[in-house]
Amino acid sequence: MINESRRPDAGRNASPFLHGHEAASVARVLESGQYGHTDVTEKFERRIARYLSVPYAVAVTSGTAALHTALLAAGIKAGAEVIVPSMTFCATVQAILAVDATPRFIDIDATTMCVTPDLVTKAITDATGAVIPVLFGGRAVDLTPIRADLAERGITVIEDAAHAFGSRNHTNNRLVGSNATVLTCFSFGPIKNLTCGQGGAVIPRTPDEAHTLRRLRLLGVAQSQSDRAETTTYQVHGFGLRYQLSGLNAAIGLAQLDHFDMAAAARRHLWRTYRAALTEVRDVTLIDVDPDHAVPHLCQIRVPRRDEVFAHLRKAHIGVGVHYPPNHLQPAFATWHRPLPATEQAGEQILSLPFHQHLTEVDIAHVVRALRAALDATGTTPRT
Ligand SMILES: *Cc1c(COP(=O)(O)O)cnc(C)c1O
Repeated sequence: MINESRRPDAGRNASPFLHGHEAASVARVLESGQYGHTDVTEKFERRIARYLSVPYAVAVTSGTAALHTALLAAGIKAGAEVIVPSMTFCATVQAILAVDATPRFIDIDATTMCVTPDLVTKAITDATGAVIPVLFGGRAVDLTPIRADLAERGITVIEDAAHAFGSRNHTNNRLVGSNATVLTCFSFGPIKNLTCGQGGAVIPRTPDEAHTLRRLRLLGVAQSQSDRAETTTYQVHGFGLRYQLSGLNAAIGLAQLDHFDMAAAARRHLWRTYRAALTEVRDVTLIDVDPDHAVPHLCQIRVPRRDEVFAHLRKAHIGVGVHYPPNHLQPAFATWHRPLPATEQAGEQILSLPFHQHLTEVDIAHVVRALRAALDATGTTPRT
């Protein structure tokens, strides 16, 4: 039994890491009366680019929109195959379906929850147009060993870095998003490493690609909104979507960027505190996000009897979650089902522990105690 008094912050799985400056930043935009794609949005794009040391970033309304526009910019056509791990948020798959392409689900490495160059290579066919590695939990995925092969076959790498803003590649210590051979997509949704409330960004590979992405996210119009104020007309140059990031959302992102190093440090500290607390707990495997390089997005473990443990923890007001139910088992994606043993096993064992800035070390100790109690209560053999 868990007989300690309830700790409300342990009851939440995630919440935004705020610094306290976001409200003032949004208020300034509210007072300006300019809520659309404005110079605030463009300033946010420049700041993201500067943070990553890249020439451009193209801000959009969400991580899903980032993936969708990246697939369009990469020229992925109807019927093309896009290699994607089944172990991802369903948004990755929906972006592939948005361009009428076919998801080719692949398995993951059981220890990292990420795809490997080998798993990608095995799934390549003549129809492959792109591969979307998912930087799970914030961990970078390095496809350098097969980069030349992918390029030769005309396969674009589109990183789903929704979890990985601020993370670095473990092989060369470079920031995710700064590799000019891949298209990187970030999400700035409410609980991501950096938040705009809702938002996302694509990091293009070339000036041409930046131009294409800007047009795609602005209804096919080539000019930015601020340029438009200077002329009597505008020109629609091609297909486009209403995916530009509002100044209100960009204002949140700008305030977040000013203090991002603090949020990154807090996430690393939380993750390492969990790691230390979990070493003594039997039957629990912590998924290693590599916090020396990654900015951890999740604290994810594997446990036996997951569904029962989950129910026990929920009853004890612990905000556990599951990231994610495998996509190849979803009814909507059944057409593309194939057996993926590591993903299926993970799907039955994974559990995400509460992970947000309001957690204290006392909360974490409370969560881990509750986890131990849940494992004991569901186990068939008595424990010592
Ligand atoms: C959040 C997320 C997305 C989608 O981003 P949104 O901003 O929510 O649209 C895509 N992929 C992964 C892995 C995510 O976690």
